[in-house]
Amino acid sequence: MKTKSGISFFSSSLLESAPVTHAFLSRRGGVSAPPFDSLNFDTRGADPAEQVEKNLSRVSEAFGIDAGRLVTVNQVHGNNLLLVDDKTQHLRKKVDADAVITMVSGAPIGILTADCLPVFLYDPVKRAVAAVHAGWKGSASGVVLKTIEMMRKRFSTRPGDLLAALGPYIGPCCYAVGENVASEFERGFGASSVDYIQNIYGEMRLDIGMANISQLVGAGVHREKISMEAACTSCNNGLLFSYRKDNGVTGRQLSFIMVKE
Ligand SMILES: [Zn+2]
Repeated sequence: MKTKSGISFFSSSLLESAPVTHAFLSRRGGVSAPPFDSLNFDTRGADPAEQVEKNLSRVSEAFGIDAGRLVTVNQVHGNNLLLVDDKTQHLRKKVDADAVITMVSGAPIGILTADCLPVFLYDPVKRAVAAVHAGWKGSASGVVLKTIEMMRKRFSTRPGDLLAALGPYIGPCCYAVGENVASEFERGFGASSVDYIQNIYGEMRLDIGMANISQLVGAGVHREKISMEAACTSCNNGLLFSYRKDNGVTGRQLSFIMVKE
């Protein structure tokens, strides 16, 4: 974990040497009051919009991104994508989607999470990026696979060129799921899902990070080009928002990536 202007964040060692600006932000370094303390980016809860605006301007100052150009989406645990291009980058109305892709330099794209997995993809050949929101539902519906497919179509991305970075998510240490989630996940994810759902101490535990790594590798991303942060959101609840640990009343941390201009 790192700190910049009082903001704690994680970054991918793979992406650090790439011409992108990125961060998996923690919950530390903002102005929001409990239970959204403090670097919250969710405006759907009771945290006043002005506080979220202040958090955003802190981050934009610290990281040198243009807050007015940040594109996030209404995340709905599906596999729809938003392509940010010259036409859509100024849209202020949020689109229902769980992944954002762009080739526009200087345009930050972001995903909000509190247990779900944030994933960044970077194509160093085409200079394109993706930010993906992958919870168990999105993972079961192959959101990361669909994102790579869209990058192929729109940017002629070759999966073998991609760098992938996984941010903090609720680990199998804390992510017990019921029978219905386990069977729905199995149905959507396919045969190898059994590798990512394990019975630990009589509970079904799901590892969405490892499940997404298997999808990435299956799509042609090289394993050595995938990085993963080890922090579990629930185990590290003082540092990260966790929907489960906070019993559903909590904020959302922002993960953003931008191709440098
Ligand atoms: Zn944990």
